[in-house]
Amino acid sequence: HVPSATEKHAPDQTARSRPTDTHGRPSIVWLRDDLRLADNPALRAAVDEGNPIVVLFVLDDSPLVARPRGGASRWWLHHSLTALAERIEERGARLILRRGDAAEEVQRLADEVDAGGVFWNRRYAEGERSQDGAVKKALRAAGRVAESFQGTLMYEPWTIARDDGQPYGVYSAFWRACAKAGTPREPVAEPQSLDGLEKRLHSDELASWELLPTKPDWATGLAEEWTPGERGAHERLRDFVGDRISRYSGQRDRPGAEASSRLSPHLRFGELSPFQVRTAVLDSREGAAENRSKFQAELGWREFNYSLLFHNPNLDSQNMRRNFDGFPWHPASSEVLERWQQGRTGIPLVDAGMRQLWTSGWMHNRVRMVVASFLIKNLLIDWREGEQWFWDTLVDADPANNAANWQWVAGSGVDSAPFFRVFNPVLQSQKFDPQGDYIRAWVPELADVPAKEIHEPRASGGLDLSEVGDYPEPMVDLKATRAEALDAFAEIKSH
Ligand code: FAD
Repeated sequence: HVPSATEKHAPDQTARSRPTDTHGRPSIVWLRDDLRLADNPALRAAVDEGNPIVVLFVLDDSPLVARPRGGASRWWLHHSLTALAERIEERGARLILRRGDAAEEVQRLADEVDAGGVFWNRRYAEGERSQDGAVKKALRAAGRVAESFQGTLMYEPWTIARDDGQPYGVYSAFWRACAKAGTPREPVAEPQSLDGLEKRLHSDELASWELLPTKPDWATGLAEEWTPGERGAHERLRDFVGDRISRYSGQRDRPGAEASSRLSPHLRFGELSPFQVRTAVLDSREGAAENRSKFQAELGWREFNYSLLFHNPNLDSQNMRRNFDGFPWHPASSEVLERWQQGRTGIPLVDAGMRQLWTSGWMHNRVRMVVASFLIKNLLIDWREGEQWFWDTLVDADPANNAANWQWVAGSGVDSAPFFRVFNPVLQSQKFDPQGDYIRAWVPELADVPAKEIHEPRASGGLDLSEVGDYPEPMVDLKATRAEALDAFAEIKSH
C-alpha cells in the first residue's frame, strides 16, 4: 500500500502497547487551542485512566510554533487562562503554567511527576505537528503513554481527499466530501470532578507573562464586548441558538443586524468545540432549516481553511497562486497604512469596520471583505500587510482563517474570489447597511448624516458639508484605483 499525498501526512495515531505500570502515576493533559473542560476528548481520556490529573498549559517559545501572538490574542489568552484555572480548581485539580520550549516543558513535567501518560488534542499546522510528533516519540521512548485526540476539527485534513488522493482545492467539493465522510460525533461529557495531584508543583504567575497591555491600555473596548472562557462561550452559544439564528440566513450579511453568532474567538481558543456548536445548532428550535445549514456551511469554511493550512504550511506568507509573487504592489507607506488602520480613509463603511476592529477586536464578516478589498485593490497594498494588522488586532486571529480569507479576497488563493471582482465599498454600504446604522455606530462624525448621503458623504449634491465636520475626503478615487488594479492584474496574468 503506497500512502496517498494526504495519508502520508497523517499523524501516528497508533495506541502503542501500553506500559503496564501506569497505575497511580499521574496523567498530564496538555492544553493548547482547546481551553475547555467540556467536550475535551484528551481530558476525558486522561480522567478515564483513573490516575491523578495534572493540567498543563505552556506559553511556547519554540521556533517551531513561533509566529508571535498578536496583542488582542494575548489579551484573550490571559483572560481565558484565568477562567480555565478557576474551573479546573472548582473541579478539584490545578492548571500548571510553564513557559519555554513546549516540547521540553512537557517532558520536564512528565519526569517531575513520573507521569504514566500525556494526553492532548491534535493541532494541524506543520510546525505544531512536528512538535507533537517529537513529543510523542520522546514520551513513548521513556515508557509513558502518549495519545492524541480529535477535538478541534470535525474533519481532520488527512481524512478528506479526492479520489486521486490529492487534497481538495475547492470549498464546495471539500464540504460535499465531508458530508459523505460521515456525521461528526456528539460532544464528550465533561468530567464532574478531577482528581488533582497532591504534590505541589511550580506554576508561573500568569501576570508574569505580561500578556495584557499596560500603557496605553487599549483593551477596555474588548472587555466591554467579550467574556473569554467557557462560560462566556456558552452564553454566546445560547444567545445564538435561542435568538440570532432565526435571522442568520437572511441577515448575516448585514453588519448592523446582529445576526451572526460571534463565536469566532471562542472557537479559535477552543473554549467551545465545533462539535458542541454543531449539536446545539441542530437542536435549536429557532428558525428554518436553511439557517442551520447555512451556519454549518460557515463552520465548513473553517474546516476547509484548516485543510488549506495543513497542505500549505506558509499560508500566511506565500501566495498560493505563485503568479501573484510578481504583483506590482504599491509600497506600504506608513501614512497610507495608518489611515486604513485607524479608519480615516474617507470611505464610511471601511472606516466603520476598521474602528470596530480597533475598539472591540472583532469585525463583521461582510465588512472584513470590504476593508480587505479596499486595501488590496484600491490602495494596491500587499494582502500580507492587512493580514498582519488583523493578526495583531482580532480577538479571533486564527492561523488558518485569517490567512486563507486574505488570500481569498486577494484572489491569490486556490478557491478565491477572482482578482477582477473588486468590491465597490460605496455600493456594498448601500446594499448591506442601507440605513447607515452600522456606520453611525462606529463613525460618530457622521451620526447626523441622513441615510441617503451617509455612504458617500462628500459626493456632490444635497448635503451641507458642515454636517460632516472633519470627516476626511476619500483618500483615493475608487474608479481610477480599480482600473489601475485591473491593469496590474492583467500584467501578472500574462506571466
Ligand atoms: P458566524 O457567521 O456566526 O460563523 C460561525 C463560525 O463559522 C465562525 O465563528 C467561524 O469560526 C466560522 N466562519 C464563519 N465565516 C467564516 C469564513 N469566511 N472563514 C472561516 N471560518 C468562518 N475568522 C476567524 O475565525 N479568524 C480570523 O482571523 C479571520 N480573519 C478573516 C479575515 C478576512 C479578510 C475575512 C474576509 C474573514 C476572516 N474571518 C476570520 C472569517 C469571518 O469573518 C469570521 O469567522 C466571522 O466574521 C466571525 O464571526 P461570527 O462568529 O459571528 O461568524
